[in-house]
Amino acid sequence: MTAALPTRTRAAVLRAFGEPIVIEDMPVPARIEAGGLLVEIVACSLCGTDVHCWEGSLDLKLDLPLILGHEMAGRIIAIGEGADTDSAGQPLRLGDRVIWTHAFCGQCAMCARHRPAMCPNRKAYGHVSAENWPYLMGGFAQHAYVLPGSGRVRVPDSVPDELASMASCALRSVVNAVEQAGRVGPEHTIVVQGAGPLGILATGLFSQAGAGRVLTIGAPAARLELARAFGADDVVSLEDVPDPADRLAIVRQATGGLGADLVAEFSGHPAAFAEGVAMAGPGARYLVVGQLGAGTVEVAPGAITKKNLTVIGSFSGDVSHYHKALAIIERLAGRLPFDRLISGRYPLGQVNEVIDRMRSFQEIKPVLYAS
Ligand SMILES: [Zn+2]
Ligand SMILES: [Zn+2]
Repeated sequence: MTAALPTRTRAAVLRAFGEPIVIEDMPVPARIEAGGLLVEIVACSLCGTDVHCWEGSLDLKLDLPLILGHEMAGRIIAIGEGADTDSAGQPLRLGDRVIWTHAFCGQCAMCARHRPAMCPNRKAYGHVSAENWPYLMGGFAQHAYVLPGSGRVRVPDSVPDELASMASCALRSVVNAVEQAGRVGPEHTIVVQGAGPLGILATGLFSQAGAGRVLTIGAPAARLELARAFGADDVVSLEDVPDPADRLAIVRQATGGLGADLVAEFSGHPAAFAEGVAMAGPGARYLVVGQLGAGTVEVAPGAITKKNLTVIGSFSGDVSHYHKALAIIERLAGRLPFDRLISGRYPLGQVNEVIDRMRSFQEIKPVLYAS
């Protein structure tokens, strides 16, 4: 089931960390293996992780040269044998749009436990070498290859390209995290640490899930305003309140001196962990999502014991979270202003400029378009 396929494509290739990315002419795989898909990228939004990958500062394995970008949506242009349904059983046809997971082996202990994001053999888009077949393993490109081991979900017609793209990393990570945090209700005060895309989306999902009060901490002011639009009842600016002791006092005051029922960390700063433990009240849950770096922080572990804290780590997500993320965009678009997260739209050739703008906080969620 293949149309006339292109033999060459354009991709933004990173050959040295911290160096400008160059648009290169790349081969398109001539053969689509059973279970694989070839897609034309319709939108690739940037994730903070892309910037850290470019810098080479991430505590994850990266094989240069590579095509960055792991948060994207594509339109199917070739379907490998047996790949004509998605992971939810919906038929897939040429021209349909999909989002897809990293590729898992399906033959290891973690895959057997339905924890594919922990699969030691996983192949992650935006992380593996562009020199090896099937080359097109990142979103900063005109085309991408979807491996047989990747879960995939058809994008509903009502979901725009860039929001489908955002669903494939930012929102699916938040959906997974919020699910792992467990029930939230009107009796709960939740503190969200971080006002990047994940913190803002989490603010929205907690608020829609019926949390009594959501307090979001972050910067700059424009992001906190967006957090309010997503349902934050209060916001605390890191610029206006730079001292962690003062932020702790605000949380204590907002909770009758007890501390939060649930603290959710999406900031990525190691210091936020110590602050979050302090902000958590007795019997609270502490959800830790943003810590992908190798940084450390001093914490008195006794606080976790003495407060009976439940500390929950949450990394990435599985195909169920991609599926739910798309349903959430479809159903909550009237209540949560997802489109306001999309801060800029750029052609692929401006990739270096977009990374610069991400690094200087001028963009929250920019999108690259290759065609
Ligand atoms: Zn990401
Ligand atoms: Zn595995």
